[in-house]
Amino acid sequence: MMAESGAMPVRATKRGDERTPLGGERDVLICGASFAGLTVARELAGSGADVLVVDRYEIGERQTSACGIPTEWLRRLDLMDAERQRFDTLVMHTPHGTSRYKLPWTFSTFDYREICQLLWRDCDAKFETAKVNGRAAVAAGGTGMVGVETDRGTIRAPLVIDALGWRRMLATGDGYQPPDAPLSRGLEVHPGGESEDLAIWIDRKYVPAGYGWSFPAKDELRIGIGSFDPRFHVKDTTVALTQDLGKEPNEYQGNWIPHKLRSATEGGVFFAGDSAGHCLPLSAEGIRTALYFGIALGRELRGVIEGRQSREQAAETYAAFHDSHEWKFEWMLRVQKLIPKVPPRILAPLIRLMATKRFVDWSFTHYLRIAPPDYAGAGLPGGSAHDQDGAGQQQADAEDALGAERDLVQAKQA
Ligand SMILES: Cc1cc2nc3c(=O)[nH]c(=O)nc-3n(C[C@H](O)[C@H](O)[C@H](O)COP(=O)(O)OP(=O)(O)OC[C@H]3O[C@@H](n4cnc5c(N)ncnc54)[C@H](O)[C@@H]3O)c2cc1C
Repeated sequence: MMAESGAMPVRATKRGDERTPLGGERDVLICGASFAGLTVARELAGSGADVLVVDRYEIGERQTSACGIPTEWLRRLDLMDAERQRFDTLVMHTPHGTSRYKLPWTFSTFDYREICQLLWRDCDAKFETAKVNGRAAVAAGGTGMVGVETDRGTIRAPLVIDALGWRRMLATGDGYQPPDAPLSRGLEVHPGGESEDLAIWIDRKYVPAGYGWSFPAKDELRIGIGSFDPRFHVKDTTVALTQDLGKEPNEYQGNWIPHKLRSATEGGVFFAGDSAGHCLPLSAEGIRTALYFGIALGRELRGVIEGRQSREQAAETYAAFHDSHEWKFEWMLRVQKLIPKVPPRILAPLIRLMATKRFVDWSFTHYLRIAPPDYAGAGLPGGSAHDQDGAGQQQADAEDALGAERDLVQAKQA
């Protein structure tokens, strides 16, 4: 957590004597009980496997995001009860004017605690609070088990998932430390208030490379700043944006946000969500991608549990699925790097130009398809990521690329 986050709330966890020793072997060990970890556990419900989920806090305790997501993802996963507010328009503020983008799909804010509880409702795994310290040494001879060292003991399992966020605690060595790693930083506050506008600010007075946001969630505003440059401290300008909106900052929460994919599997461990760099560059949207890759991984692991494939086959298919998205993430990263270089006097007319219905429909439809909501309901439990994203996805990607080229030519001609 970033030092600049100010006073942090006390989080529910087991303390003192409650932290009894924890160890032994499980079929599946999922480390991290947020979007990615809970989604993997949910996909494994009913498989008969002994699944243990661990997190340093109780489920739903540690909100780190503005909790915005395409509404259809909530609907597909039967999570609509957690929805707080819905938007069909994105308001873009620049120093030279404001544009309103009418979206081809709606976007919702939700309650973090509630969504975690809803995801957990659909799981049949066990849960323990434990802090993961890293990998444990595995006995010589290689039993196929992966050991995870926690502050309550060492747990072993043949299937281990790191859904612990950007720190990627179970990696074998590619230590990532801000500010040198490809990480953005985000900080937000949650003053009470109401608004109809889902709004973002592209304004260098708040952040030289990045954006500010206000995501209303019924009775509170989630106001924050995200900087693509990890060296830029976002606290002062989070305060400035909040005060410019007539609010006082409170309840600071922040985190580092990966903007580059990392390997999907390593040393017998599977990675999903921020630990695999699944957060999208440019938008810093990492919730639906954590759900999306969590589902893909859960489907592969289920195949192992049900004896349809080996762990190695699952690793190969999941890694191929992950890798097949790399070019989309690379494109987003290119735009992320480009925007700070565009002179401000050009940025405002450009943003206005991009507000045309045709461009908004095209760009937001393609953006949604990076992790489309129908993936959640596209396959029976136990299907393979490969089935979902193999030939069919390649075909869709090819159509996307052709469509994009055609639309760009038409936009230039218009
Ligand atoms: C300020 C801010 C606003 C954001 N807003 C949005 C948004 O509106 N929409 C969006 O899509 N994305 C948003 N993001 C990005 C999004 O929050 C992440 O991409 C997303 O949370 C990733 O989910 P995850 O499950 O991979 O990891 P996380 O949500 O980070 O969860 C990791 C889990 O692991 C646990 N954990 C970590 N370390 C340990 C340990 N050592 N031992 C045990 N447990 C541990 C944590 O307690 C946590 O429960 C935002 C990010 C920030 C910083």
